[in-house]
Amino acid sequence: MEKKLTDLAPGALWGYFEEICRVPRPSGREEKIMAFLVDFARRRGLEYRADAAGNVVIRKPATKGREGAPAVVLQAHADMVCEQDGTGAHDFDRDPIMPVIDGEWVKAAGGTTLGADDGIGMAACMLALTDKSLRHGPLECLFTVDEERGMTGAFGLQEDFVQGRMLLNLDSEDEGEVFIGCAGGIDTTARLQGKSAPVSPGFLAARVEVSGLLGGHSGDDINKGRGNAIKILNRFLWMLNEAEGVRVARLEGGDKRNAIPREARAVFVYDERWKERVASTFNVYAATTRENLLAEPGIRLMLDTVETPARALDEASTTTLLRLLHGCPHGVFAMSLRVPGLVETSANLASVRFEDEEIVVATSQRSDVESEKMNVAGAVSSVFRLAGARVEQSDGYPGWAPNPGSALLQVVARSHERLFGKPPVVRSIHAGLECGLFLEKFPGMDMISFGPTLRDAHSPRERVHAPSVERWWRHLVDILETI
Ligand SMILES: [Zn+2]
Repeated sequence: MEKKLTDLAPGALWGYFEEICRVPRPSGREEKIMAFLVDFARRRGLEYRADAAGNVVIRKPATKGREGAPAVVLQAHADMVCEQDGTGAHDFDRDPIMPVIDGEWVKAAGGTTLGADDGIGMAACMLALTDKSLRHGPLECLFTVDEERGMTGAFGLQEDFVQGRMLLNLDSEDEGEVFIGCAGGIDTTARLQGKSAPVSPGFLAARVEVSGLLGGHSGDDINKGRGNAIKILNRFLWMLNEAEGVRVARLEGGDKRNAIPREARAVFVYDERWKERVASTFNVYAATTRENLLAEPGIRLMLDTVETPARALDEASTTTLLRLLHGCPHGVFAMSLRVPGLVETSANLASVRFEDEEIVVATSQRSDVESEKMNVAGAVSSVFRLAGARVEQSDGYPGWAPNPGSALLQVVARSHERLFGKPPVVRSIHAGLECGLFLEKFPGMDMISFGPTLRDAHSPRERVHAPSVERWWRHLVDILETI
């Protein structure tokens, strides 16, 4: 008989995860999952509150004898990144995610993200709220909205929304690692006027496509040598254009601001005299790229002839766009000298879209160090401005400076040693956590972030390591019992 999710341990946690998977929850459209949580609280007679931003907190009083313990906030975000493989058949606003067991891992059937980021954290909260055997002080479970897109839930929190001053963030991805700091981030968007003109006779058209890349998290995976589909595609067009001149009719790629783009495609026109040159340049480029990009064995580069479009960007607009994309920083900007092995500052060239007369280029930048975050964002916006683009910059979100002396960290570390015979690895993460904002909203909050092992979050390969979920839950239980 095939193994069911609830055969995994702890069964009740996996049962809640399955329920969560059935409820749509794209970032910014969390109404259904929040209604689900409110209904969950109501049916169990648990006190809850919702705020104007859409966040929900559910409270459970201390168990007998633990009333004097400090109040603890368990926190997870309720939205998920919605990515899927090429077909586009999955409607994230309606269709359930289908979790399946694959060896020691749980992933999504049908080529979608799984949403264990952060559905597993939510499931743990739900189990903590219902598990009768659990002994704990006053407990608050905070579910935030829109973490993945703009952290607008965390931004909108009111100071009195939670009472606890110790917070366990359940949104990190490596078992045995406890995070005590994170990077801040900012988005930089270019809006470029593209002037189009008719395509004269004697021009041929081609479609070029880059696909099959791994993608992944724009912060946590930025140092893994993965390819950026937009960069790879653009480099070919940029080379052709600098040599012979081409005109781009369309260029699109990437999707989410916080994902490394996996796919990109373009249609361009060129003088029929260059037919051979275009083909040979492409062949050499494709071969070199495949050879050099060791982290991307699945990369596909394709060039096809297509019907010549009536219009395309003129030469000047094409050159501006290709140079803008070529010059736009992407990847690791600086490694941390404070924390060995940690990326300090990075940039992600996330997506390109043609919208009417405008070309929209979306990027994001991250750093542990606030001034370096602004510096790399400034480098990106400078390239955009040189190209004559209109630049928009988000307010950004703050980083979370590590506090190695945290009392909560001591409890968490001691518990880990007791259960697993070794201390956890204490780290800072090169990704945004909501903790930076919690620190602003709830002054003096003592926080750590920990979670089971997740791989390839924000991509259709996302999966969670089932045995690590069981150990992580035991760790959480022990922390709540001893805090
Ligand atoms: Zn997350």
